[in-house]
Amino acid sequence: MASAGKAPRNATGRIPDPATLLALVQKAKPRGPSRAATERVRRMLVAYLETAIRQRLPAQQVIADMASGRAARRLGDVARDMIERDPPPVLRDAACASGCAFCCILSGGDGGTITEDEARRLHEALAPLAGVPDGRGWHPAACPALDPDSRMCRVYDDRPTICRSFVSTDAKACEVNAEGGAETGAGVLGSHIDYLAVHALVREVLKGIAQVRTYAMARVAAGAVEGRSLDESLDAARHPPRTLSDIFAALDGRG
Ligand code: SF4
Ligand code: SF4
Repeated sequence: MASAGKAPRNATGRIPDPATLLALVQKAKPRGPSRAATERVRRMLVAYLETAIRQRLPAQQVIADMASGRAARRLGDVARDMIERDPPPVLRDAACASGCAFCCILSGGDGGTITEDEARRLHEALAPLAGVPDGRGWHPAACPALDPDSRMCRVYDDRPTICRSFVSTDAKACEVNAEGGAETGAGVLGSHIDYLAVHALVREVLKGIAQVRTYAMARVAAGAVEGRSLDESLDAARHPPRTLSDIFAALDGRG
């Protein structure tokens, strides 16, 4: 498996070029996402690799972008832009406002699934704030990236995709759900499911070539504000490989 400083190679000892990766994407069967989601994100990843081939991007860069989640984030951004151009009712009628932060109460401790690229960006943005009072001063389960007084995200530009995708038409429902309730009207946009499905497809394509990991957002953020190094924070927050497929199993065919 690839690790920092080593070139990713397949079983034949070669670094697969983008055309080879494209062929792998076309036949991969990822575990977890529904067939509809798989075919949707397969088309996105094919377009991504066709662009990489046209632009003659180096194979190592393409593989690193795919494995780290940078590719999934870019494709997720495109999917979200499309949704925003023709917003569904949940987005048109969103109750979201500055300082409304019940969605930043991370009940369950995990805080959502993020990629390695997102974990590194989050840690880098938060590390300078180590030791400063954080969101847990407002609510014990709040995200450590939250400002406890203003209840604004202190890493807004570097917040992960899950935070960018969460929306609600009812702040009261968010408040109830933060304490374990199951009110409707709050949840992630479909673009987030596609983002996770891209990551699942990439993991299947890069099997034996490079590791495709996921992390618990809350643990990365806690590591950063508690002064732990990037490596320590990533080690503590790394998910077991099955987490991604468990997320899709919990969606029960809706993803
Ligand atoms: S998702 Fe809910 S808690 Fe978060 S900003 Fe929107 S209304 Fe407020
Ligand atoms: S990273 Fe920012 S937006 Fe996301 S849960 Fe934490 S405080 Fe909220």
